[in-house]
Order: sequence, then structure tokens, then C-alpha cells
Amino acid sequence: MPAKRFLLLFSDTGGGHRAGAQAVAQALQHRYGDAVQVTLLDALVYSRKWPFYRFPAWYPHMVRGRAIPWKLGFRLLDRASAVEMATRATYPYVRPALRALFEEHPADVIVSFHALLNRLLGLGVREAPRSIATATVVLDMLSTHALWFGRGLDRYFIPYEKMAGRAMALGIPRERLAPVGMPVRREMVEAARTPQARARKALGLDESLPVVVIVGGGDGMGPMAHVTEALLRRRPQAQIAAIAGRNPLLRRHLHALARSHPLRVEGFTNDMHLWLRAADILVTKAGPNTLAEAFVMGLPTVLYAAIPGQEEGNVRLVLEQDAGVWAPGPERAADAVMVLLRDEELRRAMGRSAGELATPHAADAIARELYNLAITNITRMKGHG
Ligand code: UDP
Repeated sequence: MPAKRFLLLFSDTGGGHRAGAQAVAQALQHRYGDAVQVTLLDALVYSRKWPFYRFPAWYPHMVRGRAIPWKLGFRLLDRASAVEMATRATYPYVRPALRALFEEHPADVIVSFHALLNRLLGLGVREAPRSIATATVVLDMLSTHALWFGRGLDRYFIPYEKMAGRAMALGIPRERLAPVGMPVRREMVEAARTPQARARKALGLDESLPVVVIVGGGDGMGPMAHVTEALLRRRPQAQIAAIAGRNPLLRRHLHALARSHPLRVEGFTNDMHLWLRAADILVTKAGPNTLAEAFVMGLPTVLYAAIPGQEEGNVRLVLEQDAGVWAPGPERAADAVMVLLRDEELRRAMGRSAGELATPHAADAIARELYNLAITNITRMKGHG
């Protein structure tokens, strides 16, 4: 039997879409081995259509600070009619790119990990040269934008059941919704089961002193350097690590800080699973994927920022569950870390609450359902043939 082909579309606007796609790719490969062929593609770059292919570079600037134009755009587009209008206006422009995609990457199932792609894919697949099943993995926790629920896809994987109402209000039939949780990369789930001391040793950290990890998503967003500085000024009895992601300017600032303070600085790391396992406290912007990973690790979080609109729901979720602290800005964030460092009992209680939100099996559940979609699609094609 030929391998079933899966094309996973993401884009590097932030680091979360790629991480989600990787989690599902790993789960497909782990469960089905040679029976599947999985391709990951940055769809916005692939399109070569201005301005889309520039989005990964612009994104950190668009959502910076109070991000008023972003917030406005987010709100204006956040309804089914607006999604439909905007997509239909854009569709003729991106249609050739979609055609090329279907030609160059023949797949049984195409999965979108990016809200911007969903309705375009829903329209495009109707004109594809053969039958293709489509799905999206929604990578936002509560404040899910209407763009995620653009119509025309076969399956919508959502993190929590409580999101189903909104999806249906936006026109998605119940039977196409699959509440499965947030997919988390395999190495995270495995690291969560290993002793903390092992991760600390692997990273060259002291095994007995608490560890605070500061991260701002894949692009090192928000006032991360100021948060780090405010914390270091308080001289915490802890090892502090700041992960700058793909933000060279931030990295330089952090290195400058490290000249006069005890601080570990990393750029974009592929060892996030080790850092999160080594940590006792995670200081982060409210990125959905980072939070899903922190939940798997049972790690309390201090949220120093949230992207307006799309990450506000994540803050709500963390607070409702008592899984962390909302402490916007450098001084409040640094104070919150100091409180948690002094109060081990509180830290542990928050960690336990975070663990209750964990969805370590989501990627596997998505993989199984995608495989079934591929089989259904092949049967559908044979029926037509
Ligand atoms: N990440 C990583 N290495 C880094 C920084 C971040 O692998 O150096 C990953 C992180 O583990 C998470 C993702 O990038 O999976 C960030 O996603 P999130 O949704 O939290 O924020 P975004 O960057 O998409 O805004």
C-alpha cells in the first residue's frame, strides 16, 4: 500500500505554528512509520505573494507594545462575514499559489496550523485537481479568532470543548469539530517524565538551586530584557536563564546584562524541553504553545505580557485555573517571581493546577484522526474514479 501523504502548513509568525506542526508530524511518524509521508511547509513564504511572505519578518513588529492597529484589525476581522469578505477579495490573488501547491505537493490530507490559511484553503481545495481532505489544528486556547473557523475544511481540531460553541456560531458543523487539546512536541512529553536533575545536568546547571527561565515566544517578544534586568536587580537566590529566540537585538541586550549579573543567555534553542523541565518557574508572554508546554511540565508561570487580542484568552485560562500569575511589565513580573521563589508551597500548588490543563496526548489523537481522514479520502477518490 502506498504511504499516505500529509502536507502540514504553518508559518514562522512567532514560533508556535511550527511547534504545533512538528508535534503532529512527530505523532504521525511515530504511530504510522513508513505508512505515512509527512511534509512541513511554511505556506506564507511558499506563496511568494507580497505581503504574505513578509509576515514572518513583520510579525514581531506588528504585535509590539499596545499594537493598536493590530488589535483593531483583529477585532474588525473577528466575525464570519468579515472573514468571508476578506478571503473572497484575496482569493483570486493567491489562487495561482494554491494551484502550484496542489501540483507540487500532492497530498491525501492538507493540514493548516495557521488561521490566515484556513478559509483560503477551504476555497482552494474545491478547485484542486483531485480530492484532498483538509483540516486545521487551532493553536489558540480561548480567544480563538474567527479566521481559524473559516469554512470549508473537513476537520477542526480545537483545544477545549468549551470552544465548540463559538465554532458552531461561526458556521462550523458540530461533527467537524474535534476537541483534542493543544498538540505538544514529543520531546516535551518525554522530558516531563524524566527527573528534573537530569535536565539541569544536561544544561550545565546547578542541580540544587532553583531555576527561573524567561522566554518571549519564538521571536523573544515583549519587554524581555527589562523583565530580566528587573529580576536580576532583586538578586534572587536562583539560576536565571533568558532565551531570546530569533531576536538578535534582544540577545545582545541580554549578553550585556550577563557581563555584570549571573545570567545564562540563549538564542533560539532546540532544547526547550530541557529548559522547561529544568525550570521551577517560567516567566513568559502568554503564548499558547509555550503555555501548553508549561502545562505538560506542571510548571507555574509568571505572564509578563500578552499579544493584544489573541493571547488575552490564554491569560484568562491561566488565572481561572490558578496555574500562574498575570504580572504585566518588568517590575510586577520580577516581584511575582520573587514571591514564588520564596513560597515553595505556592509554587507547587500552581504547578499542580497547571498540570491539570495539560494535554500530552493531543498530538497523537490528531494523528489518528488525520490518518482516518486520509483513508476516507482515498475511498472517496476511488468512488469517484
Ligand atoms: N521555542 C523554541 N525555541 C526557542 C524559543 C521558543 O523551540 O528558543 C518554541 C516554544 O517552545 C514554543 C514556540 O516556540 O513551542 C512559541 O510558541 P508560542 O505560541 O508560545 O509563541 P509565538 O512565538 O508563536 O508567539
